[in-house]
Amino acid sequence: MGKKYVGAHVSASGGVENAPVNAHEIGAKAFALFTKNQRQWVAKPLTVENIRKFRENMEKYGYHPDHVLPHDSYLINLGHPEKEGLEKSRSAFLDEMQRCEQLGLNRLNFHPGSHLNKISEEQCLKTIAGSINITLDKTSGVTAVIENTAGQGSNLGFTFEQIRFIIDHVEDKSRVGVCIDTCHAYSAGYDIKTEEGYRKTFEHFDEVIGFSFLKGMHLNDTKKELGSHVDRHDSIGKGLLGEEVFKRIMNDPRFDDIPLILETPDSSRWAEEIKLLYSFVK
Ligand SMILES: [Zn+2]
Ligand SMILES: [Zn+2]
Repeated sequence: MGKKYVGAHVSASGGVENAPVNAHEIGAKAFALFTKNQRQWVAKPLTVENIRKFRENMEKYGYHPDHVLPHDSYLINLGHPEKEGLEKSRSAFLDEMQRCEQLGLNRLNFHPGSHLNKISEEQCLKTIAGSINITLDKTSGVTAVIENTAGQGSNLGFTFEQIRFIIDHVEDKSRVGVCIDTCHAYSAGYDIKTEEGYRKTFEHFDEVIGFSFLKGMHLNDTKKELGSHVDRHDSIGKGLLGEEVFKRIMNDPRFDDIPLILETPDSSRWAEEIKLLYSFVK
């Protein structure tokens, strides 16, 4: 139990400094947050006050940066096929990485990108790697954490091979990582629901990517069936995945010491879901 860090993607409204307080209130040992409004391209810079209070609250409630997994804006597409969209995305992503630096955080989680049916998958994956390289050059101490996707629309990153391809094209491998979302994995066709499927999926993950790159997990149940490529989260145990897969994860040492984050739809159930997950530990 001491090695699992479960939390949720909590609200930072009113200021980033509120996120650790909100996490503490639901009994979370880890948390995720947006460091700016996720639906806007440009945000006010963090103030000295925001930064000081955030760091103070991290201390006060006992959170370590290794257990905090900030998520970038949904507008950003680091594999954008057009120059204007790509430049806008790259500058917004740099701003997000710099916010993490300011807050003393060491990882930023993002969805890799979409080809929008205008370029090939390979071109898009190379563009994403290029975006990561440019950003890592201009920052320090923050790892770019690629999230696996459900493969909805033209979103890439729904196979471990695609994620590996991006990593292969990133120059500084010490600052690139991966986050596995359980809902996305299942929707993408990885059958982690069965014991056999779970074993095979994570063996395959280790072969293709490697557990040393795993910097976080999103623990979500799903409303959509295996291989549907549709991204619809559900509360733990209420969806098609059920509780068994989460029991396995909570007792699997490969998921120790990383943020395990709920992005489940009903925030009023998070405290209960966190308790439920810890109750699975044998
Ligand atoms: Zn996720
Ligand atoms: Zn999702």
